[in-house]
Amino acid sequence: MTGGGVLPIAGGAAGRRELRRVAVLSLHTSPLNQPGTGDAGGMNVYVLETARELARHGVEVEIFTRATRSDLPPVEEAAPGVLVRNVVAGPFEGLDKRDLPTQLCAFTAGVLRAEAQHAPGYYDLVHSHYWLSGQVGWLARDRWAVPLVHTAHTLAAVKNAALAAGDVPEPLSRRIGEQQVVAEADRLVANTAEERRQLIAIHDADPDRVDVIAPGADLRRYRPGGAVAARAELGLDPAETLVTFVGRIQPLKAPDVLVRAAARVLAQDPDANLRVLVVGGPSGSGLRQPESLMALAAELGIAHRVTFMPPQPPDRLAQVYRASDVVAVPSHSESFGLVAIEAQACGVPVVAARVGGLGVAVRDGETGVLVDGHGIDRWASALGMLIRQPALRARMAAAAPRHAAAFSWSHTAEGLRSTYRRAMLDWDAQIAGQVVGQVGRGSDGRGSDGRGPD
Ligand code: UDP
Repeated sequence: MTGGGVLPIAGGAAGRRELRRVAVLSLHTSPLNQPGTGDAGGMNVYVLETARELARHGVEVEIFTRATRSDLPPVEEAAPGVLVRNVVAGPFEGLDKRDLPTQLCAFTAGVLRAEAQHAPGYYDLVHSHYWLSGQVGWLARDRWAVPLVHTAHTLAAVKNAALAAGDVPEPLSRRIGEQQVVAEADRLVANTAEERRQLIAIHDADPDRVDVIAPGADLRRYRPGGAVAARAELGLDPAETLVTFVGRIQPLKAPDVLVRAAARVLAQDPDANLRVLVVGGPSGSGLRQPESLMALAAELGIAHRVTFMPPQPPDRLAQVYRASDVVAVPSHSESFGLVAIEAQACGVPVVAARVGGLGVAVRDGETGVLVDGHGIDRWASALGMLIRQPALRARMAAAAPRHAAAFSWSHTAEGLRSTYRRAMLDWDAQIAGQVVGQVGRGSDGRGSDGRGPD
C-alpha cells in the first residue's frame, strides 16, 4: 500500500520499536469543538477519547487541527499527555468544508513546521482521520520516515449511494483523494467489517493492511440512571413517552423520518402521550434546519409534540438519554453511530435504520429494533410497537447496557496500539530488507539518499 515513487526523506526509523508519541491529524474539525453541530460529530469524540486512552497507556498524542478562531492558542492541553495544536491555515471563520482542499498546503506547512522544532524522530507514527487529513499524513509520512495509519470514517461512494432528498453529492475529487490516501497509507482502520469490505471493493485496499477496530463509548459517563431525576433536571414531562433524536441536524441523519413517523403514530393513536425530542444543531447541507424540521412538524400538525434542544455537553447528554424511553437513529448512512451505543449504555432501547455500523451497534429485537429503509409505514410501526409495549421496552432497556459494554474507548485504543505496533514493525522490516538488499549489491549498507522504504 505504500505508494511507489515518492520515498521518505528523513533518516531511518530502523530498529525503533517503542511507541512513544503519535501525531494525529484532524484537519477539518477540532476534537475540542462541541459535537452535535456544524462539522463536529462522532469523529471529534473518537479522536479525543482514543487520544486520552492512548495517553493513559503512556503514548503521548499530539492532535493537529485547523484553527477556526483567532483567540485559540497555538497549543492546548486537552488531557494529560494529549496536546491539540491549532494550525493557522486559511480564514478562521466562514470557510466551508468543501473549500478546505484549498488550505491543504497551508495546513501541511504548519504541521511540518511544528515537527521541525523537534529533534528528528519526534513522532513514531502519524494517524490521519478523514481523507483531507490523509492527504497531509501522506506527505508527513514521507518527510518524517514514519508509518501512516489512516481512518476514512466515511467514504464518498457510500455516502452518495444513500443520499437523502435535498442532499448534495460528494464530488469526484473527494473520491480520487480517498483513493490516493488508501494507496499510500501503511495501514487502514475500519470501524466495521462492512467498512473494511467497502475499502477493498471501492478503493482496492490491500486486505492484509485493513484492521477492523470498533469505536466505543465513555462507559463511565454513559450508564443507566434515574429517568425521573433526569426529566426533572431537563424540564421534561414525566408522564410523556419520550422518543429522542441526538446528532447533527442534516438530511443524512434523517430527523425528518422520525418526525413523520411520530405524526403517523399520533394519527393512528391520538391518545398516545408522545413527545419527540430533537437534540443537536444545524450542520452541512442542512443549514436551514432545524427551522425546516420545525416547519415540517407544524405542517404535520405535531409542532406541540416536538421539542428542540441545542447541542449538549456529554454529562447533560447522558441525562438526555436517561430521560428517554427510546432513542431513534434514522440515518441514511452511518459509518458506526456512537449515539446508538451511548443510548444503550444508558439503558435505552434504540430504533435505528439498518445501515452501516448501526447493524453492529444495535442488536435487532434484543436491545432495539433495526428498520429496513426509511419508509414512514415501517418507522411508524417500529416506533408504535415500542411506544405501546412498555414491557418490551423494559426488556430491551435491561439488555442494552450489557451489549454496549462490549464497546469501550479503552478497547478501541488497545486495537489502535496493536495496529500502530504492526505498522511500525512492517516499516522497520521494510527498511531492514532494503538495507540487506543494498549490502547484497555491494553497497555500504546506507541508502544512497538516506531515504526509507518505498
Ligand atoms: N453529541 C454531543 N452532544 C450533542 C449531540 C451529539 O456530544 O448534543 C455527540 C454524541 O455524544 C456522539 C457524537 O456527537 O458521540 C455523534 O456521533 P455519531 O457517531 O452518532 O454521529 P456522527 O456525528 O459521527 O455522524
